[in-house]
Amino acid sequence: MSAQREAAPEPAPSPAARSDREHLLRSWSSYADAPPAVIAGGEGAHFWDEQGRRWLDFSSQLVNLNVGHQHPRLVAAIRAQAETLCTLAPYHANAATSEAARLIADVAPPGLNRVFFTNGGAEAVENAIRMARLHTGRHKVLTAYRSYHGATAGAIAASGDPRRWPSEPGPPGIVRFWGPYAYRSAFHAADAAQECERALAHLADTIAAEGPQGIAAILLETVVGANGVLVPPDGYLQGVRALCDAHGIAMIADEVMVGFGRCGQWFAIDHWGVVPDLITFAKGVNAGYVPLGGVILSEAIAERYAHRAYPGGLTYSGHPLACAAAVACIGIYRDEGLIERARVLGETVIAPELERLRLRHPSVGDVRGLGAFWGLELVRNPVNREPLVPFNASGAEAAPMAEFAAACKQRGLWPFVVANRLHIAPPLVIAEQDLREGLAIVDAALDVADRYCV
Ligand code: PMP
Repeated sequence: MSAQREAAPEPAPSPAARSDREHLLRSWSSYADAPPAVIAGGEGAHFWDEQGRRWLDFSSQLVNLNVGHQHPRLVAAIRAQAETLCTLAPYHANAATSEAARLIADVAPPGLNRVFFTNGGAEAVENAIRMARLHTGRHKVLTAYRSYHGATAGAIAASGDPRRWPSEPGPPGIVRFWGPYAYRSAFHAADAAQECERALAHLADTIAAEGPQGIAAILLETVVGANGVLVPPDGYLQGVRALCDAHGIAMIADEVMVGFGRCGQWFAIDHWGVVPDLITFAKGVNAGYVPLGGVILSEAIAERYAHRAYPGGLTYSGHPLACAAAVACIGIYRDEGLIERARVLGETVIAPELERLRLRHPSVGDVRGLGAFWGLELVRNPVNREPLVPFNASGAEAAPMAEFAAACKQRGLWPFVVANRLHIAPPLVIAEQDLREGLAIVDAALDVADRYCV
């Protein structure tokens, strides 16, 4: 028999796969990329494709699906709202939108009591920047090199990661700084305390060099997400708050990825007891069942709009379906104790298991995280920390990480792989047994990465 004859015949693409291939342009992809799995359904921490291949979800669909797929209470709330009132212009009030705003204000840090709704994270960032500029009468915004804030014109310009490059030059007024990252310190710091001190000194120098009287905001991810799961050292966010206070700068905490329980508190910033002036949120607010994001405003910033109109808006701001989903989702977090569960799973299962993987696999250079949000940084050489794939690798250069991801998928785990890292963000409802099985798959798949180690 010829080799050609032996190969299993490719199944004919399904109608969905064909339409996808012929008509869709997906985020951050070319349509020549390998065809994606056509997903047919999901339940809890699992989802499956048209062929019945099933995966345990360690990505929560871009760190989104905190309550898992098809949570019955959330589906029922959306259905009930759909049967009552699907859509409404934002100049009307309705019960779902008002209740969502009340519940969000209720769990937000003290003094943040007013919510402006958007359709997602990028629009939240755009509006937070606008609010900070109007409040301070200043223009510049300081943002971190290791950050992602969304893909609209202003949000991508405010981002530090390489995804901004094709959109440059962006709008003026964005100034970037280096945030703390102990494993690859920009400050050559020896430990977390020194990293904190030097990162704050660098930020203070940046403010002085830019002129504090022109700086409207410091925008930062409380825990950096897509750029590495970077948990700030204790004292850093307090230091940023102090610099903002000293110079009349608004502090914007971007909690789009980590807000609503991912890190084991309602907002990640609650771990440090810091109260920012503005919080951006999306994803976890309703587990992404219907697109929703927003900004939570301090009283001082909101007060400006007591008797004058906010000069910004969206047709779908406060969309009833999305807000009904948020009301149900916040209820689920509370009633099922999911915020606490994120903390407990992190402390008792994820952290110790990942530490075990670090000791066992030479390719695991660093392990870090908080709550149910973790990152494994993969290296070729644990001594000099050379990353498993180069910064911003694509194509053949990125192959080792692609092989590692494929090894996870073959074993039934859907990983969230970014650059040379595995980000671990399972739904907060995941059964402990499933979580342990998923970590065992990561363990087995790391053998693939170890082969590249010198
Ligand atoms: N900010 C952060 C911290 C994010 O992680 C993201 C998306 N991953 C965004 C903003 C943009 O959100 P969206 O994709 O909903 O516009």
